[in-house]
Amino acid sequence: MSSKKSGRIVIVSGPSGVGKTTICRMLRTRIRDMVWSVSATTRPQRPKEEDGKDYFFLSEEQFCQKIAAGDFLEYAQVHGCYYGTPKKLVDDAIANGRHCFLEIDVQGARTIRESRHYNLLQIFIAPPDVQELKRRLVARASDNPQVVERRLQNALRELQEMEYYDYRVVNSDIEEATTAVEVILSKELFGEQYVGTI
Ligand code: 5GP
Repeated sequence: MSSKKSGRIVIVSGPSGVGKTTICRMLRTRIRDMVWSVSATTRPQRPKEEDGKDYFFLSEEQFCQKIAAGDFLEYAQVHGCYYGTPKKLVDDAIANGRHCFLEIDVQGARTIRESRHYNLLQIFIAPPDVQELKRRLVARASDNPQVVERRLQNALRELQEMEYYDYRVVNSDIEEATTAVEVILSKELFGEQYVGTI
């Protein structure tokens, strides 16, 4: 039997427009000793996104084949598209004692939590208030009013899941929120050994 200690899965969730993708991007440049999962999705690729780096962009048929093959640790429909976490990447990482970082929605987090197979660290990024979240969603020029409304309704549902997370970080200021998550990771995962930018 291997004596190697398993890694933990870090889950970061939060509603659309809360700034979690920016926070995760900033963390990635600060914390190197982690595996950053790349999800698969059926949503269209956005400008500046790279296939295989930001997401694996798949057709719905390809995605469903992967579901059938058991390739996902979890998958969910978010805003009308499929998103899924590659199981092998995560399982290999944690079996090798590496911590693995997932930025996924609350449905996916619930699936992993309920499987009870993994040692989780769950962080929820919350908006300062709902009005501010709406303002941020409207400010995203790429989304039309129906999309904004759907994302806002989803956001309100997502906020109800906040209580199941180990930590809640309110994003009033992106730099402070990123540092708060970094401090949590430093304390929970790396203890004394972590020398970061805090
Ligand atoms: P976006 O399309 O804006 O990149 O992401 C939309 C939502 O899908 C975000 O809440 C993001 O966290 C979530 N998401 C991204 N990848 C996954 C995944 O693999 N599984 C699940 N369940 N949600 C994901």
